Amino acid sequence: MRAHNFSAGPCTLPLSVLQEAQAEFVDYHGAGASLIEMSHRGPAYDAVHMEALALARSVAQAPSDFEVLFVGGGATMQFAMAPMNLLSTGQRGAVAVTGAWSKKGLSDGLHHGDLYSAFDGGPDYRSMPSDDQLHIEAGTRYLHVCSNETIGGIRFPSFPDVGVPLVIDMSSEYLSRPIPWDRTDVVFGGVQKNLGPSGMAIVYVRKSVLEAAPTTLASALRYEVYAQKDSMYNTPPVFTIWMTGKVLKWIKGQGGTAALQASSAGKAKVIYDIIDNSNGFFRSPVESRDRSHTNVVFRLPTVELEQEFLAATVDANMMGLKGHREVGGLRASMYAALPEQSVEALAGLMSQFSATR
Ligand code: PMP
Repeated sequence: MRAHNFSAGPCTLPLSVLQEAQAEFVDYHGAGASLIEMSHRGPAYDAVHMEALALARSVAQAPSDFEVLFVGGGATMQFAMAPMNLLSTGQRGAVAVTGAWSKKGLSDGLHHGDLYSAFDGGPDYRSMPSDDQLHIEAGTRYLHVCSNETIGGIRFPSFPDVGVPLVIDMSSEYLSRPIPWDRTDVVFGGVQKNLGPSGMAIVYVRKSVLEAAPTTLASALRYEVYAQKDSMYNTPPVFTIWMTGKVLKWIKGQGGTAALQASSAGKAKVIYDIIDNSNGFFRSPVESRDRSHTNVVFRLPTVELEQEFLAATVDANMMGLKGHREVGGLRASMYAALPEQSVEALAGLMSQFSATR
């Protein structure tokens, strides 16, 4: 029996996708080998790869002046690749530090570019800054933002509009929210939440950025090389791309980003309503305006009760609800493929638990 899977990523994927992959896995369409055993330059993989790239473009509704790249190494690698590719000598980038992931974006990025903090919401990171709280210095090349902080459970209700292009880490709400293309130069995210297994990031990059990028970078670190070679300059993460293509097709069938956005908001509301109507038994530690739609962080009155509740979730065939070790408490991650029944099951358990304590 499949568990109600509230893991933060890797996480639950559509059952139909897993089953389809299972049926194709050992002998890919009668080829006598698995797709992951074939050359990535062969026709079978090529078709899968190009379809996945096309789906990543169409689901995101990426305009023609953006390239779509598949880059191995996850979102963390983009903390370095973005400043490497965007900042020429003498240029500076800004980072809105709104939680653990943007903080890493700053500390990692500093190895490769002149970055500064335009905002620091620490140590608690309970809310996102408004535009006038973002201090953008003259001559800033871009502002890096994390649209949804996976650990802290906060999201920008709307994207900053501060007169410089954005670099957006959308890992934990990737394609379940429209991308503000007109004020963005780079969008990236690890695929292992809404979109597939782990192993790569999808990067959308404005074409004019490629032209201006430093030419001193090694091939695997240059967005331009990925763009020119359809993300096949070197061996791509074939399994991840294969599965991501299937999930993207599934998302398209659901109605694309608009459908995911609605279902994500709906699922989050079910749990926030339980929290808000629990007479303080459950507590959301974050500013209500900035509550995440995918990572609902909540607390109980004591750590002992939190442990007891966590044990009850395990007994109820739920997994992944322990809060991140940096913040404690509970966290329900509810990505694209999490069925509504799982959300209802958690809501039911929360109501029952609070009523009997
Ligand atoms: N950014 C965000 C918002 C994330 O949630 C994560 C992973 N949880 C990362 C970056 C890092 O991603 P990866 O593990 O793919 O490097």
